[in-house]
Amino acid sequence: MTGVAAIDAILSIDLGAVVANWRRLGAVHGAPCAAVVKADGYGLGAAPVGRALQAAGCRHFFVAHLAEGLALRAALGPDAMVAVLNGFPAGADGAAGLTPVLNGLADVAAHQGRPGIVQLDTGMARLGVPPEEWSQLAGQAPLFLMTHLAVADQPDHALNAMQAGRFAAARALFPGVPASLAASSGIFLGPDFASDLARPGAALYGINPTPGLPNPMRQVVRLEAPVLQVREIAAGAPVGYGATWVAERPSRVATVAAGYADGYPRALSGRAIASFQGQPVPLIGRVSMDLTTFDVTDLPGLRPGDALTLIGPGCTPDEVAERAGTIGYEILTSLGARYRRQYQPA
Ligand SMILES: *Cc1c(COP(=O)(O)O)cnc(C)c1O
Repeated sequence: MTGVAAIDAILSIDLGAVVANWRRLGAVHGAPCAAVVKADGYGLGAAPVGRALQAAGCRHFFVAHLAEGLALRAALGPDAMVAVLNGFPAGADGAAGLTPVLNGLADVAAHQGRPGIVQLDTGMARLGVPPEEWSQLAGQAPLFLMTHLAVADQPDHALNAMQAGRFAAARALFPGVPASLAASSGIFLGPDFASDLARPGAALYGINPTPGLPNPMRQVVRLEAPVLQVREIAAGAPVGYGATWVAERPSRVATVAAGYADGYPRALSGRAIASFQGQPVPLIGRVSMDLTTFDVTDLPGLRPGDALTLIGPGCTPDEVAERAGTIGYEILTSLGARYRRQYQPA
């Protein structure tokens, strides 16, 4: 044996699946889709994701921050629209090639004469021009008129139709201006929620846009953490910080190289299921900063150097999130910087 076994966890990102998801979303929407790649492409890498989608024909990208926009522009070259959801000051350094989302009358005035996207608040009360100010936008001809849905993941919620209705009324004030309405979940709400440009993010990365129904998206992320050690413990022996787990039988404990500093949430302590060759592997004790322990008593073949799948089939980002009491979005955007990242090309 030469050298040392790889002891970094490996995060595999399937760019082919991202592209397939983008095409799928376009087909469901029946009209073009942008790609939302804020927060570094939901933690998966805005530049590689953006380049793969651009090569597949995507021409519109959204980020949240100016700095994200500048980095994406450098990665994509001059051709695509790169819009900044949170807006940016008129005249910001290097921002000439970026498209601001104009979230208030002051933004509209400051960016007068340059192309922007006007966001209307149709009922979420987060960002955007509120209805009582819409009349003051008369005569504007933005690149797009957009709004964002608050409850698109709850198809039966009355606010969806209310927001779509208000948006339709607002659009009548801007004849000929294209519109951008749905994000991932909104795409699945049907024709009343179609627009000239949908803005999916999460679904591109495999998050289920239709919670409670089968996930129509392909999985993108797989996280494999190497087993550093396997130990045998006696019945009655505790495992980990706080001694929160105590063996009920003679047990084998596998310790893997990933913890909450890598975005594997501490809230998963005692709750997560990983997998090994398709078998479920329960997490035991507390997740610590760099290490997590699993009960592998029923996997006698498992050896140090083998890898447990912490995120993947049987433990998708949505499933991990559910066990951690959060949403898949937070699992992806928390993925740590210490993983060795491997991109499968589209
Ligand atoms: C984040 C965001 C999106 C993408 O939402 P997903 O649910 O990830 O598809 C679209 N539009 C706006 C305004 C956003 O903030």
